[in-house]
Amino acid sequence: MKTILVTGGAGFLGSHLCDRLLERGDDVLCLDNFVTGRKANIKHLLEHPRFELIRHDVVRPVFVEADQIYNLACPASPEAYQWNPIKTIKTSTVGTVNVLGLAKRCQARILHASTSEVYGDPEVHPQTEDYWGHVNPLGPRSCYDEGKRVAESLCMNYHLAHGVEVRIIRIFNTYGPRMDPKDGRVISNFIMQALRGDPLTVYGDGSQTRSFCYVDDLIEGMMRMMDQDEEIGPVNLGNPGEYSMLELTEHVLAITGSKSEIIHKELPADDPQKRCPDITKAKQVLDNWEPEYPLKDGLQKTVEYYRSVVAEMDG
Ligand code: NAD
Ligand code: UDP
Repeated sequence: MKTILVTGGAGFLGSHLCDRLLERGDDVLCLDNFVTGRKANIKHLLEHPRFELIRHDVVRPVFVEADQIYNLACPASPEAYQWNPIKTIKTSTVGTVNVLGLAKRCQARILHASTSEVYGDPEVHPQTEDYWGHVNPLGPRSCYDEGKRVAESLCMNYHLAHGVEVRIIRIFNTYGPRMDPKDGRVISNFIMQALRGDPLTVYGDGSQTRSFCYVDDLIEGMMRMMDQDEEIGPVNLGNPGEYSMLELTEHVLAITGSKSEIIHKELPADDPQKRCPDITKAKQVLDNWEPEYPLKDGLQKTVEYYRSVVAEMDG
């Protein structure tokens, strides 16, 4: 049994991770400033004897004791991270320094949640970990992409200079229950729109692709990465099934049974044209880890969740 700090623990991925760690028997310190996290995500854990909620911002130094740290604090949806771009940069830079400093003092292993966004609008496809990326350092996504790139560098340098045990994962688009219905990401948008009979908003011509990983698969990979002793990373974690946004509308309409129409809106600046993980390395170092949920099954579970959200909203 370990004491495990999860920064960003009230967010979409963080809350699922807290669930899994508690199930396993660990003590969980869930730290969050609630900028995009929601109490609803962790409400069921508040009375758990091994769960503790700490309202705190990682941009300020963190003083707790932990054996392991999962550093997930950072808004992940483009709308959310562009809402206060300077704060997003500070979270990935100053925040990561603070959490690495904590890891150093506690001699804790730290897993940092990096992102496929470090590859930018990639010229290599699918993306392998040795690709350095194609990021616009001044564009609207740079507060997130460049912040995450600095955070990777910080992890590597804390490891080299101070021997901190780091683990870096690059997460590709992940979806599932507890994604904020209003966070503007494509899966939450399309499902909410379909359930309400509103038009599905496809940005651009919808030919751009993403690869969608169901949350349970991602959390399994994340925990395996933390608990193995050989590989620092970076390691890609995602589902290599690749879909255009127009294909995604078809799946969402079929699963929800919705008759919503499709409308096109302007493509946001620097929106990556394609994205797909090469997960060869993850399979090798994480004991044959690979995603088990095909898109249809994961969407089915996610739609069930959003049906309950809509029912609650409509009272
Ligand atoms: P999320 O927005 O639901 O969760 C992020 C959590 O971090 C929220 O609870 C938020 O309140 C908290 N947070 C943000 N800034 C903070 C700060 N300064 N101090 C303390 N807490 C703070 O997003 P998510 O999808 O759960 O993503 C979790 C992590 O995984 C993020 O670091 C994100 O960059 C990374 N990631 C996610 C995806 C994905 O598809 N979900 C893909 C790539 C990377
Ligand atoms: N997108 C879309 N309609 C929406 C929201 C997003 O067509 O209502 C597109 C967006 O332009 C991008 C893809 O869906 O090409 C994935 O967007 P998301 O914000 O989910 O994540 P990203 O991978 O861009 O960070």
